[in-house]
Parts: sequence; structure tokens; C-alpha cells
Amino acid sequence: MRSHLLNGLTAEHYRRSVTEGVERVAARLATIDRPFTGVAVDALSPTVDAIDLDRPLGDTTAVLDELEDVYLRDAVYFHHPRYLAHLNCPVVIPAVLGEAVLSAVNSSLDTWDQSAGGTLIERRLIDWTAARIGLGPAADGVFTSGGTQSNLQALLLAREEAKSQSLGRLRVFTSEAGHFSVRKSATLLGLGPDAVVTVPVDHDKRMRTVALARELERCARDGLVPMAVVATAGTTDFGSIDPLPEIAGLCAQYGVWMHVDAAYGCGLLASLKYRDRIDGIERADSVTVDYHKSFFQPVSSSAVLVRDAATLRHATYHAEYLNPRRMVEERIPNQVDKSLQTTRRFDALKLWMTLRTMGADGVGQLFDEVCDLAREGWELLAADPRYDVVVEPSLSTLVFRYVPAAVTDPAEIDRANLHARKALFASGDAVVAGTKVDGRHYLKFTLLNPETQAADIAAVLDLIAGHAEQYLGESLDRAS
Ligand SMILES: *Cc1c(COP(=O)(O)O)cnc(C)c1O
Repeated sequence: MRSHLLNGLTAEHYRRSVTEGVERVAARLATIDRPFTGVAVDALSPTVDAIDLDRPLGDTTAVLDELEDVYLRDAVYFHHPRYLAHLNCPVVIPAVLGEAVLSAVNSSLDTWDQSAGGTLIERRLIDWTAARIGLGPAADGVFTSGGTQSNLQALLLAREEAKSQSLGRLRVFTSEAGHFSVRKSATLLGLGPDAVVTVPVDHDKRMRTVALARELERCARDGLVPMAVVATAGTTDFGSIDPLPEIAGLCAQYGVWMHVDAAYGCGLLASLKYRDRIDGIERADSVTVDYHKSFFQPVSSSAVLVRDAATLRHATYHAEYLNPRRMVEERIPNQVDKSLQTTRRFDALKLWMTLRTMGADGVGQLFDEVCDLAREGWELLAADPRYDVVVEPSLSTLVFRYVPAAVTDPAEIDRANLHARKALFASGDAVVAGTKVDGRHYLKFTLLNPETQAADIAAVLDLIAGHAEQYLGESLDRAS
């Protein structure tokens, strides 16, 4: 069994095993012709359930053969040009290489004595990101497991900075298109059930700042404490970007913590063409960035940044066995002092390898390409009488609905769109997402693959229309 432990004696076994695994994945990537096989839960689960976990196969080749059946064959492949669904990106090769290196060395970024250079690399990337945002000389931050955790940590700091006696009086403002993790965080932070105030959005799904001003005013009048405004730079559903400069102005006026959730829009930090769309982000007190969304990084790779490093003390706890207080005086950099996690992956290495190989411009160019593709897709949709499209894209998302001229019942149109999404998924020809707009069912493309062409979008729109028409035809038959 010792031969399975990675060390100097098994280096050759490691090389062969990993190479064999890489060969399998490479062969898959080269041959698949659809993003998904369309396998149903009930068809796949017996295969997984039949595996006897107490009877190992022992041998890498046999395990990889089995993996083809339980995973590789039926996985959903984000690199395929017709995967257009959620905020998942195809990944860049330097980052995948980084992933292989970081898991083999297996540094843990909580303390210097478990990571050494890893800590310094993470710190450089935090400084690099903070500088791209423009947060100023006192900025700091830490890598996290994802945007959800970044938002939670930012709101923890905001809660502590609000210095309120009563958690029940704290209020957090975010738009109706803000991410649900804001609400989840508020609950985890012990705020009251009315803590999150939802601010309406305008026609372009951007927070209405007039309404925000009114809510802040009302909060003050009612003797409540405004804890944070969460502006979204790239809403999950629409890619819309809240008016950051106006929101920053209101936060300054009312003395409220400004958090910018740029989980999606952070790709613009590297953009060569559209950086100005997130102007105002430099005025934030904290920022969430998800490199695993718009920097083409494998899951997970994310960070929370703060304007004032001192605010991170709200996440600092000392343990004698790990990061005793005296180490702070000795100036030993222990990243756990800034993190909600203890043992923590060296995710930063992936971004490091990416920047050292392609540079920020290389990443920004890829993100610009998908933003341009979304513009083309919007023009296609706007010119297509079969579809109703909402919100001109600010990033790379398109939300639309199949609206046949002959059908007037909106509930029937809802059902046709829901059916089309499901049927498309079951066919495996393409994967699209869905959401609700004003109570009605819409379909959604999140475009994060620079390999996707306008022709793919056109083809998928035809497929959707085909499925929807078939549903409506059968529905007519059922009625008659
Ligand atoms: C995806 C997303 C999140 C959550 O990030 P995870 O990495 O999935 O935890 C938060 N906010 C916005 C706007 C997002 O799009």
C-alpha cells in the first residue's frame, strides 16, 4: 500500500498515474461532440450505486476505466462551445497545470510554516488585484472558496465595523437582482429576518439609486443602522452592473460600508476594452472577485479584498498550536489571521501560473471576446421575431424567451420555454439556463467560452424554437 503514497520513492508511479489520467481527459476533450450526453439521473445512478467501495480495484488503469462509466462519459463539459448555461468557464491550461502542482505539493495556506513561498505568492496576487481595483495603499485581502464565502466575510467585517449594540437593527441594502448569498450571509451573521432591504432595479436591471437614497433615509428616520450596501458588478442573472459611482456617493454620505460583489464582473479588471464599465469600484470598502468565473480558472479560485487591512482583524483568532499572538510581533505572515478557513488550498497558484504564462492582457482579451459575442447574440435575438430579449448585455449574459406569434396565453408560453430547456438538456446538444423575469419563465445564455461563435448561438436558438414548437403542437393535440 505504501506504493500509493506520493514521495521520493514513488515519483515514477506518480508520473505514470497522472499521465494516464491526463491522457484519458485529453482523449475525451478531443472527441466529444456535445456538451452533455443527456443521461438521466435514473439511468446513471445504478452505475454509481453498483460500485462496491470496500473492494478496491488497486490498479490505475482499471480505476480509470471505471471512471469513464461513472463520470467522464456523462460529465457536463464547459469547454464545449454549446455549453451556454451557468457562470462556468472553460479553463486555461496554465491554471490546470497549477492545479496539478498545488495538489501534489499540497501546501496549506493557513500558516507560513505550512506554505512558505505559497503565502508570498498569494499575497502578491492579492496586492495585484487590489491595485487593479484601485483600493489604495492600505488594501489587503485573502483567497476564499468562492463568492459566497467572500460575501460572507465582507459582511462580517461590515457588521463589526457598524459597532451596533443590537444586531436586529442592522440593515443591508442590495438590489432585487443581487445574489442570494447576501441573504444567506445575513442569517449566518445573526441579523434579523428584515435585515436585507431589497432595492428595486431599473429597466436595465441596475439598482435604482433614487430608491437606495430613499431607503437609506428611511433607515435613518426609523432609528435603524445601515450596515452595508452591496452593489453588484455583474448580476448573476443579467450581468448588469449597478451604478457604482452614485452608490459610492450615497455610502459616503450616510457613512455606510460599500461592498461590491464583482464575482462575475471582475473579469473587467483585466479587460483591454471595457474596464470603464466598473469605474467606481475603487471606492469600495470591500470587493468580491471570483477568478473561477471570468478569469478562466478552475473551481475554486476566489478572493475578498478590503480597502483597509485593519478591518481584517475581525476575522483574527489566535490558537497556540497554530498562529500564536507572538508570531504577529515576529512578523511571521500567517494568512489564517485573515481567513474564515483554517486548512486552505493554494488556489492562488493557478492565477499565478496564468499571469506568468498569458499575462493579464491574455485573460482580459478572452473576456472581451465573450462580451463581444454577447453583443452579437443580442443583435441576433433582437432581430428574431420568435424571441423576446431583455436587457442589452453589459457583460456576457443574454436573457430571452421564445414567444410564438400564435400563442397569447403567457402560462402556455412559460411551459413551452421550460419544456425547451429540459428537452435540450436531455438531447445533450446544448445546455442553457433559465430564470424568471417579472414572474415569467425566461431562458438564459451565460457566454464564457471564447470558442463559441455567433453561429452556435443561432443554431441553439433554432434548436430551442424546434423543441418549443413541438411542445406547443402536442399541446394543441391534447386540447383537441
Ligand atoms: C456566482 C456568484 C456568487 C457566488 O459565488 P460562488 O463562487 O458560486 O460561491 C456571488 N455573487 C454573484 C454576483 C455571483 O454571480
